[in-house]
Formats: sequence, structure tokens, C-alpha cells
Amino acid sequence: MKIQENIPLASYTTFKIGGPARFFCIVTSVDEVKSAVIFAKENSVPFFVLGGGSNLLVSDTGFPGLVIKVEIKGIEIKEVGNNENEIIRVGAGEMWDDLVEYTVKNGWNGLENLSAIPGTVGAAPVQNIGAYGTEVGYFISVVNVFDTKEMKEVTMLPRDCHFGYRNSTFKHEKGRYVITSVDFKLNKDGKVSIEYRDLKEYFSKVSTDRGNGEVTPSQVREAVIDIRWNKLPDWNKWGTAGSFFKNPVISKEKFDELKTKYPALPGFPEISIGGKSDGQMKIPLGWILDNVCKAKGVTSGGVGTYKNQALVIVTKSGATAKEVVDFTQGLMKQVKEATGITVEAEVEWVN
Ligand SMILES: Cc1cc2nc3c(=O)[nH]c(=O)nc-3n(C[C@H](O)[C@H](O)[C@H](O)COP(=O)(O)OP(=O)(O)OC[C@H]3O[C@@H](n4cnc5c(N)ncnc54)[C@H](O)[C@@H]3O)c2cc1C
Repeated sequence: MKIQENIPLASYTTFKIGGPARFFCIVTSVDEVKSAVIFAKENSVPFFVLGGGSNLLVSDTGFPGLVIKVEIKGIEIKEVGNNENEIIRVGAGEMWDDLVEYTVKNGWNGLENLSAIPGTVGAAPVQNIGAYGTEVGYFISVVNVFDTKEMKEVTMLPRDCHFGYRNSTFKHEKGRYVITSVDFKLNKDGKVSIEYRDLKEYFSKVSTDRGNGEVTPSQVREAVIDIRWNKLPDWNKWGTAGSFFKNPVISKEKFDELKTKYPALPGFPEISIGGKSDGQMKIPLGWILDNVCKAKGVTSGGVGTYKNQALVIVTKSGATAKEVVDFTQGLMKQVKEATGITVEAEVEWVN
């Protein structure tokens, strides 16, 4: 493992923005993770764990410590059951969508709704990635980590990870755990989940190939890719980190109050993993930005909201992190003034 100095981070992120890392290394094994952490500790510098850089905004001045880019690879079948609970172990540095493609091709179902999400497998548990009615936490049996506090390898069960809406232990105990691999529990029973509005609509228009009206996991993957392609910007062309903000989760009383003011406001009961709902409502912030703040497609300098989805921030080449921060703080202020809701960023600020 080679420690490099003053490495520009912009090209390691999908925003394509950000200054240099004081130190930078690529790790391909658990031993290398350990060596990198020891280097940071011995040199008294902070460290930051980098995956595909698709959920980050790096400051224009960069990061003053060691950036550890995780590239631990490998997919291994751990346990084969009777069409149920097959466990596959996947290296943290594998690309997330390559894994989804691999599982669908090999007849495992579960991950297809999470198709075409950028980034690595190791980052997926961090914000419990979710899309089209599902979350990765449903399919995780174990997260294998290097605990940088105890300086040893640890196996974390889902209950230790506290998965929630774009949330987990890995966000709360920032920097403590470097995820080295993830074990997924997948089925081969062909069951799919297409209850989410966009998918329901999609399959009401296209015919299915099981001949009995049933949809296959590979059709769900194709549908999700198709829908995302039309809704989200191409991150090879634009600077973006996808949804910049979290959708607010508010009390039922607050939702009813807003509904009186904005009768068309959509809202969905927030269901946690395990199927429990505690009466909170999740509302689409994109709807508020579009219909209340009239912010869809609005730009300022090199930064703007995407023309098809106001929750997504896009940047032109040459935009700075400061421009993104100013623009997004302006949007947060507008939402607060119109609805009283304090918006939280989903994208992480690295400085
Ligand atoms: C166009 C676009 C669409 C998107 N759509 C979605 C979506 O539908 N749903 C969704 O949930 N997200 C979405 N995202 C956000 C992003 O893809 C996910 O958050 C993804 O999991 C980030 O992976 P990454 O490898 O790029 O992580 P990074 O951006 O590199 O890191 C994100 C966080 O994870 C931590 N991290 C990364 N790797 C490790 C590791 N091995 N161990 C410990 N911590 C680690 C980092 O320190 C950081 O805190 C989208 C992003 C883009 C650009």
C-alpha cells in the first residue's frame, strides 16, 4: 500500500468538485486497512473512508488528513440453502450495480429494485441505500468491519447497524468502522416487489414475460434502470450526487397542517425495517421544491436543481463546493420559510 500526498479529490467524486487530500491511499485487503489507520494515528491526522464518491461534497480546500479509498474485491457464495437464505459475501470495493446485475443474472432476487445506484458495496450499509420501495438493510445478514477504535475485525449483525431511513450506526459513529465486506441474504423464489408507484405504473403499461401476469426480477431491474434513466441526470455528464436532501419525516399533525395549506401534498406512512410504523409521515421534498418553492430547473451560476427532479442538484464543470453550499442553503431556507420544515442534507460534507 502506497501513501501518496496532495492528491486532488475532484475526480474521485461524482460531483467532480473538491480540493486535494493531504494523504491518499488505496487499500485492497483488511491488513492494508489496518496499516492505513495506523499511519493516520501515528501522524495524528484524521482519516476519511472513500468509496465511489457518489454521496459526497468535498470542500474546495480538500481534506487535511488521510483519504482511504477502499478497493477490497471479491464475491463468494457462503451458504447455499434450499432456495432460501443463500448468503453471498461481497468485498466492500465491488461496485454496487455490478453486484445487482450479478445477483439478477444468477437468479437471486431482492436487490433488483436497487439497480443503477452508483457507488460501492461498502458504502451501501452506511446510508442504508434505498429506492423504489426497498432498502439494502432488508437483505444484509452481516456487515464485516475493521473497528478502528479497538483495532480489530468485527462482525456486525443488522441489529447492531440500526438501519433506518438513509441512516445507520455507520453514520452516527462516523469514522469508527471501515466496512471490508458485506454478507447478503438472498432468495431464489423469484418474488418481486413492485408496489412502489412508479413501478406499478410502469408494469401497467408493459407486458410481462411469465405469461401469467407475473413480473421477473430481471424485468424489475430493466424497469428501474429505465425509470431512473429518464428521471436522473447522467453522472458522467453532470456533476451530481443524486438526491442532495433527505425527504422529511414529519408528525401526522404537521402533515395534516401542511395538507390544509397544500391539498395536493403527497405523504406516505414511514415504515421502519421490521414493518413498524410509528405514525410519522414521509413527504417528497422534490414536490415541495417544485410546487411550493418553484425551484425545479432553477440555476445560479454553475449550480442548479435538475430539470426532471428538484431534489437532485447538478453542477456544470468549474462549479465550486462553496457555490453548491450557498445554493443548497438557499433552498433549505426557502423550504423552512414556506413549511416550517428543517431540511437535512443526504450528501455528506467532507472538509
Ligand atoms: C445519480 C445518483 C443517484 C443516486 N441514487 C441513489 C438512490 O436511489 N438511493 C440511495 O440511497 N442513494 C443514491 N445515491 C447516493 C449514492 O449513490 C449512495 O449513497 C452510495 O451508497 C454511495 O456510495 P459510494 O461508494 O460512492 O460512497 P462515498 O460517496 O464514497 O461515501 C459515502 C459515505 O460512505 C462512507 N463509506 C464509503 N465506503 C465505506 C466503507 N468501505 N466503510 C465505511 N464507510 C464507507 C464514506 O465515508 C461516506 O461517509 C445516488 C447518487 C447519484 C450520484
